[in-house]
Amino acid sequence: MKKIYIVGLGPGGDIFMTGQARQAIADSSVVVGYDLYVQLIADLPEMAGKTVASTPMKQEVARCEAALSYALEGRTVSMVCSGDSGVYGMAGIVMEVAQGHPEVEIEVVPGITAACSGAAVLGAPLTHDFAVISLSDLLTPWEKIEKRLRLAADADFVICLYNPSSKKRKDYLARACAEILPFRDGATPCGWVKNIGRDGQESRVLTLSELAQEQVDMFTTVFIGNSQTKVVNGRLCTPRGYRV
Ligand code: SAH
Repeated sequence: MKKIYIVGLGPGGDIFMTGQARQAIADSSVVVGYDLYVQLIADLPEMAGKTVASTPMKQEVARCEAALSYALEGRTVSMVCSGDSGVYGMAGIVMEVAQGHPEVEIEVVPGITAACSGAAVLGAPLTHDFAVISLSDLLTPWEKIEKRLRLAADADFVICLYNPSSKKRKDYLARACAEILPFRDGATPCGWVKNIGRDGQESRVLTLSELAQEQVDMFTTVFIGNSQTKVVNGRLCTPRGYRV
């Protein structure tokens, strides 16, 4: 049996993992993933006796090739990623890399994505239509990202930003807010959550104007309210429209 599971681990430690994710790992003899994620699950009982192949960040294709070669040897492999395995995750790349090997079964195991786990920390910001946009321009031209920001803002979506910053892109959040501000009040309630479900989790509720001045890092997910979003007892709430 040649099989690769692409497993979403959720945002942090094992309490966020689904039973399906734990089962996939238990069923595998090899676990492949970025160092940090493999460390997050190192103490799981399901990890006992596994071959672990951890790889540095930005080696996504090499990581998939490693997973594929283990699978071709007949070993069952779990490729682990944070959050959901399909949301800016590895599921698509594994499918592309393994394209020429239809005999390798690929099973995508979903996980709790940062939009959902972060929203839960802040309250209920995503209770209506929302758009998820990554500010990483490594693989997407910045002009396209700007266009998506403008259109999502114009259509009054709540906006959830992934990859809001990095060492080389310190001003990207400010630039994103500058695209959104012409469409949305500076007082719009927003928030960010850092290290969701991990040691050092932090969060803040603030206005869109304040967010434009805020420095966040790459372990942070950002939420920008729509025209209806309000702050209720210090937490974000986007009404669905029920009369309460
Ligand atoms: N597959 C992941 C997303 C990977 S992209 C998922 O579904 O959650 C990486 C971005 O996700 C980070 O820059 C950050 O914006 C967000 N993210 C992932 N895990 C996070 C966590 N534990 N805390 C805060 N943000 C997180």
